[in-house]
Amino acid sequence: MNKYKEKFEFLEKDGRKKCRKCKQLKTIDEFLNNKYKDDVKHNHCRECQHGPYKEKEELEEGHRRCTKCGEIKKLEEFGSNKRGKFGKRSNCIECDKQFRGDNKDRILEKQRVYYWENKEAVNDRNNSNYKNNKEKISEQGKKRRSENPEKQK
Ligand SMILES: [Zn+2]
Ligand SMILES: [Zn+2]
Repeated sequence: MNKYKEKFEFLEKDGRKKCRKCKQLKTIDEFLNNKYKDDVKHNHCRECQHGPYKEKEELEEGHRRCTKCGEIKKLEEFGSNKRGKFGKRSNCIECDKQFRGDNKDRILEKQRVYYWENKEAVNDRNNSNYKNNKEKISEQGKKRRSENPEKQK
């Protein structure tokens, strides 16, 4: 058996390897070595593992690119995040606001729909809760009064 083939079990006849993620045939150089096993390549290509290779961007000091809108903005325009790079979030405040706004609308809409769909059920539940509570409360009151008659003066 071909020793080379043993090492790269997914290797095609032309020496290329199929990425398990993007299903593309790529040359063996495009796969990173697996740290944990000698001579074994990862099953995902470099691009699938790390994203397309980008040249490191030279930005003016105190600026960074928002990962969401792609605009270069001042660091002050990024919200803070203790765990983030430079203690900042990777997307700008504008994008953050937009994200939160979208979510807020969606949540409100959901609540509204839920309310109308369950209006009767909710009302029923409230009514019976109220009734049960009323009974319970008056019972408790009676009990307390009968247990501590001297306190009722
Ligand atoms: Zn891939
Ligand atoms: Zn942004």
